[in-house]
Amino acid sequence: MSELSPEEIKRKDAEYIIRPWSIKPLIIKESKGATITDVDGNEYIDSESAFFVLNIGYSHPEVVKAIKDQAEKVIQTTTFQSNIPIIELAEKIAEITPEPLNRVYYTTGGAETCENAVKMAKQFTGGFEVVALQAAYHGSSTAASSTFTGMSKSKVGFFPLVAGIYHAAPPYCYRCQFGLTYPDCGLKCAQDFDRVLKTESTGQGAAVLLEPIPGAGGALIPPDDWLKEVKKICETNNMLLIADEIQTGFCRSGKFWAVEHSGVTPDIMCLSKPLGGGLPMGAVVTREDIAETFKAGIPPTFAGNALPAVAGLKTIEVLVKERLWEYAKVIGGHINKRFNELAEVHPLIGDVRFKGLMGGIELVKDRKTKEPAAEEARKMIEMLKVEGVLAFPGGISGSVFRIQPPINITMEEADKIVDAYDVVLGKLES
Ligand code: PLP
Repeated sequence: MSELSPEEIKRKDAEYIIRPWSIKPLIIKESKGATITDVDGNEYIDSESAFFVLNIGYSHPEVVKAIKDQAEKVIQTTTFQSNIPIIELAEKIAEITPEPLNRVYYTTGGAETCENAVKMAKQFTGGFEVVALQAAYHGSSTAASSTFTGMSKSKVGFFPLVAGIYHAAPPYCYRCQFGLTYPDCGLKCAQDFDRVLKTESTGQGAAVLLEPIPGAGGALIPPDDWLKEVKKICETNNMLLIADEIQTGFCRSGKFWAVEHSGVTPDIMCLSKPLGGGLPMGAVVTREDIAETFKAGIPPTFAGNALPAVAGLKTIEVLVKERLWEYAKVIGGHINKRFNELAEVHPLIGDVRFKGLMGGIELVKDRKTKEPAAEEARKMIEMLKVEGVLAFPGGISGSVFRIQPPINITMEEADKIVDAYDVVLGKLES
């Protein structure tokens, strides 16, 4: 394969691989830290950490070494067996997640983790209904996870979906559905869970499933007390709170877990992405009484593979050793400040919002009407590449760029990302 020309490699990619998007993929030859190099030799800074997986960067040397060493010993074991790395990782997860979440159920990725979290909640409560956010994203599996999102573009062609899943208003302060402003709003979006339960539920609720900061929905940063209000509503309705920390966890938001900002302990946490240090892995984490009632059925074949476990253990070790939740605040604060400065000269920027190094830059055609600048955002994908930055717009209208590079990115690399936006926005506006 390596002897093929870049053109032949691209042709074969298009010929054999089914791609859900019209965007032509970059074919990556090498990646290190925050930088990737494609088969044509072009270099890019990845402002989204390989879709929010690589919090300590591509091919971190310690992670690579851990994978190599482990591959010599044990790679795959059946789910009737165990291996030392998954035991050590489970112990580590129990140590770093809030008390009393000490029991771990392994999966192989994010969607599977969220589905199993909901299965757990159903068996524990005896209910079946789930309330999620309209702006949620919990994965692409048809049976349940496409249902968990309220964004219709993820569901087209997959109906009928799973019954009993409802959607509440997201904590989207920039586009508050109620036309209100925090703190005078009284957290009406949190109260919306109550409205949904009163109007749509049949009283057989199992769980509220949410991301503490909705990521794919557009890096929607809620006020810290939003989650507290939602938790109260869960308690009143005997429903569990499932926090999907797949994107927000592992130091991304300036704390190790995003739930720490509100001081809320969820009943169940969903982990994936950085958990496997770049290899596929997920984990549902819960407390003893919920774990006791969980009858999982047959676990996924690859759950508990030893390679992602050592890569994840090493990733956690580096995050802790380097106190990267603190650095996320420093570097995120710097990028936030710089984007706010850009907003003064670029009218396309409608909103800049950051929590640690989880950032959203929302583009609008007009700051008064807030009409989403989705076409401009799509054009920017290629324009940013020319400036050496990889980024893809997301959000409900496809007009939000998320700034989530590896957390150990340097100041210079961070500045390069912002400078690229400055150049591209200037070209679009001229
Ligand atoms: N949950 C969140 C918050 C995510 O961001 C994602 C993926 O982007 C998922 C779940 C689904 O993960 P996976 O693609 O591994 O199924």
